[in-house]
Amino acid sequence: MVIAIDGPAASGKSSTAQWVAQRLGYRHVDSGSLYRALTAAALRDAAVDEPWSGEQLVTHGPRVSLRPEGSSFVVRIDGADCDAEIRDNAVTSQVSRVASMPEVREWVNAQVRQAAQTHDVVVDGRDIGTVVFPNAPLKIFLVADPWERARRRLNQRLERRPSDDEVAEETDLLVQRDAKDATQTVQAKDAVLLDTTYLTQPEQVERIVALAHAVTHRPLVT
Ligand code: C5P
Repeated sequence: MVIAIDGPAASGKSSTAQWVAQRLGYRHVDSGSLYRALTAAALRDAAVDEPWSGEQLVTHGPRVSLRPEGSSFVVRIDGADCDAEIRDNAVTSQVSRVASMPEVREWVNAQVRQAAQTHDVVVDGRDIGTVVFPNAPLKIFLVADPWERARRRLNQRLERRPSDDEVAEETDLLVQRDAKDATQTVQAKDAVLLDTTYLTQPEQVERIVALAHAVTHRPLVT
């Protein structure tokens, strides 16, 4: 079983996917973490301004692994935890460029499909319901107002209420990344559109879990 959750940056895909996976006893695959890990591995070896090619970037692929751990698949570089590194600004500012290369997209898609061969998965990304698993029985496209996405992201990062100026600055960055990712962020025709601007996270999770039960015809366990 594959549940595909797509949507723009900071729309809450990963945290929602993780929670849904826990509720259903599935495993969460964060496809963005693979794009980020490949970018981080390349950045360890080369300057940002180098004219990277897709062919060159995928030579770093064998250094990146995706291992099942609890209700997730965890990404590692050279066998070590890399979560802070792959979320820092150096990686975030380069990852869209890396993700636009077809060789890189093929490499990531192969890793994600392999993970789904052995487990029921909730996969989040941009093109999961269109390219990676076009036959997924449940596809969700999560959206939220950019200001709200920026506010949530800062709340999580700063662990305090952000000022309006901080939210405005983060909104600009998110809108820029949305523009860079626009060609690869596609809503499948058969996806359920979920606008989370006015939903709490538990509400989002409950809606997706209910849809999953409807699709699999399994009874709802609370
Ligand atoms: O989801 P997250 O923001 O961590 O993804 C990081 C980047 O990876 C995105 O900005 C996008 O460029 C790329 N990405 C993608 N396709 C996916 C998942 C992520 O192009 N399925």
